[in-house]
Amino acid sequence: MDYKDLANLIFPDAKEISYYEEKYPRRNLPEGAIVTRYAPSPTGFMHIGGLYQGLISKKLTEQTQGVFFLRIEDTDQKREVENGVTEIINSLKQYGLEADEGCTSETEEVGNYGPYKQSLRKEIYQAYAKYLIGLGKAYPCFCSTEEIEEIRAKQENAKIRPGYYGVWAKCRTIPVEEAVKRIQNGEKYIIRFKSPGREDKKIKHKDVIKGNVEFPENDQDIVIIKADGLPTYHFAHVVDDHLMGTTHVIRGDEWLSSVPLHLQLFYEMGFRAPKYAHIAPIMKNDEGNKRKLSKRKDPEAAVSYYSELGIPKEAVKEYLINIANSNFENWRRANPDKPLEEFDLQLNKMSVSGALFDIVKLLDVSKIVISKMTAEEVYENAYNWASKYNEELKKLLENKEYTLKVFAIERGNKKPRKDIAKWEDVMSNIEYMYDDIFYNKEQKHEYQVINEKEDISKILSLYIEKYYNENDDKQTWFDKIKELAGELGYAKEVKEYKANPDAYKAHVGDVSTVIRVALTARTNTPDMYEIMKVLGKDNVIERLQKEIQRLN
Ligand code: GLU
Repeated sequence: MDYKDLANLIFPDAKEISYYEEKYPRRNLPEGAIVTRYAPSPTGFMHIGGLYQGLISKKLTEQTQGVFFLRIEDTDQKREVENGVTEIINSLKQYGLEADEGCTSETEEVGNYGPYKQSLRKEIYQAYAKYLIGLGKAYPCFCSTEEIEEIRAKQENAKIRPGYYGVWAKCRTIPVEEAVKRIQNGEKYIIRFKSPGREDKKIKHKDVIKGNVEFPENDQDIVIIKADGLPTYHFAHVVDDHLMGTTHVIRGDEWLSSVPLHLQLFYEMGFRAPKYAHIAPIMKNDEGNKRKLSKRKDPEAAVSYYSELGIPKEAVKEYLINIANSNFENWRRANPDKPLEEFDLQLNKMSVSGALFDIVKLLDVSKIVISKMTAEEVYENAYNWASKYNEELKKLLENKEYTLKVFAIERGNKKPRKDIAKWEDVMSNIEYMYDDIFYNKEQKHEYQVINEKEDISKILSLYIEKYYNENDDKQTWFDKIKELAGELGYAKEVKEYKANPDAYKAHVGDVSTVIRVALTARTNTPDMYEIMKVLGKDNVIERLQKEIQRLN
């Protein structure tokens, strides 16, 4: 009896691996094309770090005319969550990161290298496990959980390295005949890899991001097929990335220390190993301590958080690219209007240690992104967001024609307004432009330098009676406010006032603040001339008159 007999006994129905090697031919792609994947477990939660990985992977494949595929790693069925795949697919789609191949829903997929859901690849893993057993490179292990526990306790007591290796790997040396007999007797087992490694030897490896790393060789006889017949992550990774033609494994750096094992597996199976790029996690500054963004503690760890606040996806992507490659900032400065797609992302320029995630910076990026949108785009985005998250805003926006004019204020020019960072801000940003809210929601008129009732009333009355004309162009409009200031004894120029402050009560800027506050109940607004244009004559006069009445 030999290893082949053992292999046949364990996996009688498994195919020869040549079947799969032919079924999934090498990909025919241009030189330098990157084939990579996003390979999440469907836990029902999309972490911002996952989006980060997906974005980087998709961008690199686009830059090189490669392939980006989505593989669902659901071999740990304890962690499965209903609709976990849908959550991932929807998040990717929402950010324009659809995969070229792979799962497209809980049950469907596209591409010639599938199935892309690991739980559907059981027979493939078994074929490769059978192949390894047949070569004597894998074996059945009959140790029970208690026995493994016992080994661990002994190792702990003796203060030696834990694990199933060397002399501790009891089942490694069981003769084939005995193994066959025990299987025939119905004993339970799993399949382990027979590691040829030695812990006192080193392997050198060049990671695309981390650079040169050195590790002890792997000598652990890791489990490759579990009791439920499904593979472990390590084995599935090697089989899948081989068959699917992955050129670059881009994954979280918690896997870096598994590289010796993975390279060994690739080698022992006779496969060519892909390149590895281990991404440092996104970090958070927690009162001076740098730590990983945590799913439990940090709401901003969830991709859904950004949708809820209404941060546009372009801003989130732009910010993530910014974290990924520090030279992006200079590129953006030099190319303020180019689409993100034109930036050449480089894996080897990614930071080795985790980049800090700074929500304030993200909001700044977002302000710029939104400032470049047309009024129509702002409208569409704000409306979509409000439809989901803010009924009151949605109602306001239903007046589309008017709202488009509101959004067009100080937009589409050289220095567009940057006062919206997220769609959540829109309500407070524009509500004063709507009479319904302006008159019915309590407004605080906080007058500034000129704050005496009489002075205010005088300015407003004179403005309506003598100076306001809705047809004035901007210069005339502005000149008239100066005239008005002059007529009431305020300095017509700020300069004049500064040169001679005792000669005046205040200056033209203070006068226009009075009009602004009366009109909008705000001290800070976009361009007042444009606001008046949008409000229209009747409205401007009504607002100013009502304010005069209120003050008296
Ligand atoms: N399923 C693994 C994880 O979510 C994937 C790691 C990999 O990309 O290989 O961590």
